[in-house]
Amino acid sequence: MVTAKAAVLYGINQPLQIQDIEVDEPQAGEVLIKTSASGVCHSDLHFMEGKWTYPMPAVLGHESAGVVEKVGEGVTNVKPGDRVVVAFVQSCGNCDRCTTGRPNLCQNTQSLQRMGRIKLGGNPIMQFAGMSAFAEYQLVSSKACVHVPDDVPMEVAALIGCSVMTGVGAVTNTVKLQVGQTVAVVGCGGVGLNIIQGAKLAGASRIIAVDLLENKLAAAREFGATDVVDASKGDPIKQVQEMTGGGVDYAFEAIGLMKTAQDAWGMARRGGQAVIVGMLPLAEQLTLPNAGTSFLGEKGIVGSYYGSTRQTYDMPWLMELYRQKRIKIDEIITKRWPLDQINEAYDSLKGGEVNRSVLIMDS
Ligand SMILES: [Zn+2]
Ligand SMILES: [Zn+2]
Repeated sequence: MVTAKAAVLYGINQPLQIQDIEVDEPQAGEVLIKTSASGVCHSDLHFMEGKWTYPMPAVLGHESAGVVEKVGEGVTNVKPGDRVVVAFVQSCGNCDRCTTGRPNLCQNTQSLQRMGRIKLGGNPIMQFAGMSAFAEYQLVSSKACVHVPDDVPMEVAALIGCSVMTGVGAVTNTVKLQVGQTVAVVGCGGVGLNIIQGAKLAGASRIIAVDLLENKLAAAREFGATDVVDASKGDPIKQVQEMTGGGVDYAFEAIGLMKTAQDAWGMARRGGQAVIVGMLPLAEQLTLPNAGTSFLGEKGIVGSYYGSTRQTYDMPWLMELYRQKRIKIDEIITKRWPLDQINEAYDSLKGGEVNRSVLIMDS
């Protein structure tokens, strides 16, 4: 049992409280990680704001990298001292989704939402995403650990654990974009910028960034957007359709709102697809305008979860592209905070000030 400082959520829209938790010893197949860096991701905010639900009190956090402290019985892929990024889908490796190359859709991953392995005030609580990364220590499945080369900073590796994988993978893995195809990206935060650089890597001919904020559109250009649409200045669907003569091959939604999901649908051309990357509210209904003509136009809508990651294959190549400076990650990190200031970090995310901020815990 190790004591770790953690950020605890007690209720919807309440500030997180910094408290000690107790993290259990690793059992068979498990690894104890000392957290180095943990990303301030929008997805955690959905739980804090009650758009998605999770048993509370809870320690959120799912975008992290750290150093292996201890391993349980039978763990052979990592050893104490190894630097690793932790994938938040801890796939089993055995189910039919895992064995057909789609481990992000693992059917047994829920079983790894372990109960009782971390304790708060002596009471067992659940481990969010099998991680609970807003803490100094995390107990994770060995299958979630991917090695980080010495010359890749931990804050960079942490971002590969969620926003980079989710964004780039939506293009390269989920839709397998072909050279020359056209793309629109609705929402240019941490994930949106990674969709943009994924589209650039994959050879998209037009990459149209759509946002309401000027600073985000400027960032989008730096990451590879060829055109920008300011959605505060007129109907973004019309603007994209006019620019492209009828829409794009793939329109990515990267915020998690019904309105922007409908926008993405409207921006997809005949034969094109809307790709939902943002976390739409769990229980709401999405209606699709112009269903009839869309059906005749063979339009599609598809979800993209975690960039359809195959973590042990995809995360190493993402780190290699970072080392070669072919993808930007340092540039996404606009602010660093200590764990104690996690509430300020989330306030600044809500205000749209930052691309991505990171909690640095190893100092
Ligand atoms: Zn995330
Ligand atoms: Zn599985």
